Amino acid sequence: MSASAPVASLHAQAFAPPVATGKRNLVGLTREELTAAVAELGEPAFRARQLFSWIYDKGETDFEKMSSLSKAFRAKLAESFQVARPGVATAQLSFDGTRKWLLQFDDRQQVEAVHIPDDERGTLCVSSQVGCTLTCRFCHTGTQRLVRNLGPAEIVGQVMLAKDHFGEWPASRPERDITNLVFMGMGEPLYNYENVAKAIRIIKDGEGLGISKRKITLSTAGVVPMMQRCGEELGVNLAVSLHAVIDEIRDVIVPLNRKYPIAELMAACRAYPGVHNARRITFEYVMLKGVNDSDADARGLIQLLKDIPAKTNLIPFNPWPGAPFECSLPERIERFARILNDAGLAAPVRTPRGQDIYAACGQLKSASQRLKKSEREAAEAPTSPSP
Ligand code: SAH
Repeated sequence: MSASAPVASLHAQAFAPPVATGKRNLVGLTREELTAAVAELGEPAFRARQLFSWIYDKGETDFEKMSSLSKAFRAKLAESFQVARPGVATAQLSFDGTRKWLLQFDDRQQVEAVHIPDDERGTLCVSSQVGCTLTCRFCHTGTQRLVRNLGPAEIVGQVMLAKDHFGEWPASRPERDITNLVFMGMGEPLYNYENVAKAIRIIKDGEGLGISKRKITLSTAGVVPMMQRCGEELGVNLAVSLHAVIDEIRDVIVPLNRKYPIAELMAACRAYPGVHNARRITFEYVMLKGVNDSDADARGLIQLLKDIPAKTNLIPFNPWPGAPFECSLPERIERFARILNDAGLAAPVRTPRGQDIYAACGQLKSASQRLKKSEREAAEAPTSPSP
């Protein structure tokens, strides 16, 4: 991967948010929606395909430079539309190369996106909602109320902004800083399914952002009724935030469990379309001292996963100010992992990344505010300019 910026031990930059133009943003529109938009301007459907490629493959934001389109069409496009990215409130670089962007939308709501470089890959972690409804007890985002869902433009926009940063255009180029995409930022993606699905269709489109569905992982706390659809329609990898093996504990730390208990969740995992040994479900398990980290818990996990093509991902709890938990001791995590390994379960321990910039798992939290109802409706109205 190319290093696109000098590595500083800690680096924070402030940017001015973009000027709101009031024009409709074409980012986030699917092929079909672009075709309709182009038809409104009296242009044939093949123009939409060209436009799709200019926006999502070439990353072009200036209609003037879309040289395969006629001058007249470019002028018409510029009159009504824009190709815009989210604003960047702050960007931070960790000593370990992890980057975090605090992004800001037209209604001033903010979410975070994180890029984690590794030896052979670079993973971009995106948000799907401003805030979250799930209130998982160990998660910092969980202390923040849900403000609103992100629209497709705001989800795709996170990827495009990161690609701008790395100069990663055209999207189809082989060398990339962003090889993998995970929906593990703020929010529950399966509670914003329609918008997430639209965004994923654009992101995995070979003439769009071109990140294959095999490199995309959607993480859910276990919204059981949406899992089947997600697998069938999107075909992305699934990660499930399990975190406990008995309902009494999971009910407390992942309150969604009261609605969809472990047995139902496991049944949905077994039925997840396309799951087989080469394409396993990842079970995330946050290591909380004295809560879910005993030998018995490890054995319970083996039992639960015995007939599911699974891998586990042990996540050392990342503390945040005022968190009611502590991370399990390293020896405990090691022993827990060994029990799983001995039973033939892959159980890598995730190294916390970007801790100095609060970019580690579950630490994402922006200073968003709950919108008044009228503001929320205005922000969600389809005619309003999307960011
Ligand atoms: N709502 C989705 C995706 C967001 S969270 C989900 O629940 O899967 C992404 C992962 O980070 C989840 O597994 C979540 O449980 C985990 N996580 C949240 N807070 C954490 C923390 N403080 N330390 C470690 N992992 C955490």
